[in-house]
Amino acid sequence: MGIEETKQDNKGNDINWIEIKVEADREAVDSVIEIFSRYGYQHTVVIQEPIVDELSWGNYVIDTTKPVIISAYVAEDHYSQQAIDEITKSLWHLNQIRPVGVPQIREISPEDWMDAWKAHYPIIHAGERLVIKPAWLDYSPQNNEIVIELDPGMAFGTGLHPTTRLCLDAIERYMHEESVCLDLGTGSGILAAAMAKLGAKQVLAVDIDPVAVSAAKSTVERNGISDKVQVLEGSIEKATAQYDFIAANIIASVIIELSPRFQEIMSDEGYLVVSGILEERYYEVALSLTANGLKPVDLIQESDWIAIILQKRSG
Ligand code: SAM
Repeated sequence: MGIEETKQDNKGNDINWIEIKVEADREAVDSVIEIFSRYGYQHTVVIQEPIVDELSWGNYVIDTTKPVIISAYVAEDHYSQQAIDEITKSLWHLNQIRPVGVPQIREISPEDWMDAWKAHYPIIHAGERLVIKPAWLDYSPQNNEIVIELDPGMAFGTGLHPTTRLCLDAIERYMHEESVCLDLGTGSGILAAAMAKLGAKQVLAVDIDPVAVSAAKSTVERNGISDKVQVLEGSIEKATAQYDFIAANIIASVIIELSPRFQEIMSDEGYLVVSGILEERYYEVALSLTANGLKPVDLIQESDWIAIILQKRSG
């Protein structure tokens, strides 16, 4: 797939995107980012201006004397209106405390979306060895680095979300070579690609969102790992093996809902990493998992996002 191509849905049609843009003053920036990253596609947020310098991992140096223009993108499908409603509602509530402008919502073509993507996506280093590289940039791996090439139409923004980075870190630390793995809620397929490239024997990647499934399939193809990774539309019901490593970067409520199922599909020495948990929901999620036969063996955190690594209690 070449760089000029655009993101397509699972029927091969080009996807239109909806851009939600808002101007916020310094006081409101963090809250707007939090709202946008919750509902925007792949959790990504773009700070359009006034950037003085752009660091890796989506860290920006912003000109503090000017208002900040922030955007999120939503793929136009039957979920998009719900996401837009949630964003506008949350911005309205925020505006009661801190001033934010009126959100500007507009449809953008696949071509404009692609241009914006290209402009905002750098090479990213994750964990000890992983390098996430957009297709149009060159990178020569150093020492034992492992490069994952991302499909240009797959996600948008600068840097990966902390929840993804926490999972990449956990995969590097806890996944053994020759593991049988499950990537539950695969999104772009980035975690499945990391598992395969770090030596997993086989990986099942599932997602309920057909747009994500198509993105993950192209990530698999692009990285030449189709012999190891199978991508399916669906959820935990597709998991029919005993997995040595499971990554579930999904929101807290879904992890809680699925928690009775994990131990049934984990091998005795297997690991589960659950991510996508905001600090305030940590105890609720941990309680639900421990009540269902699992024991936490590690916890990693970045800003207010937490990932828990668990094993079977009897394992
Ligand atoms: N794994 C990717 C990463 O770490 O960047 C994407 C994670 S994204 C936060 C969560 C993904 O989970 C979304 O693509 C969403 O469609 C999917 N998802 C949500 N609920 C799910 C469920 N019950 N079963 C499977 N996938 C689900």
